[in-house]
Amino acid sequence: MKPSRAVCQSCAAPILKDYDKGTEKDGSSTELYCRRCFSWGGFTEPRMTAEEMHEIVRTRMIGLKFPRFLAKLSANGVYDLKRWAVSKA
Ligand SMILES: [Zn+2]
Repeated sequence: MKPSRAVCQSCAAPILKDYDKGTEKDGSSTELYCRRCFSWGGFTEPRMTAEEMHEIVRTRMIGLKFPRFLAKLSANGVYDLKRWAVSKA
């Protein structure tokens, strides 16, 4: 088995512990999304767009003192995540 490097497929936050995982309708945990994005079978911000999430991730990275180019790079990764790849099609 490969070591798990799960990231939330909505906000790209690393999912390291069970505590970080979102929950399905039946209360079981999902590896796809973190608990901030997805709880009890639904997104916590269902109307959020990929562009809004891009900005949130970029701002968060800069807030964590990441270099700007790295913040932008990570934020661009948002568009490859499962949640947003669907809306692109
Ligand atoms: Zn998330």
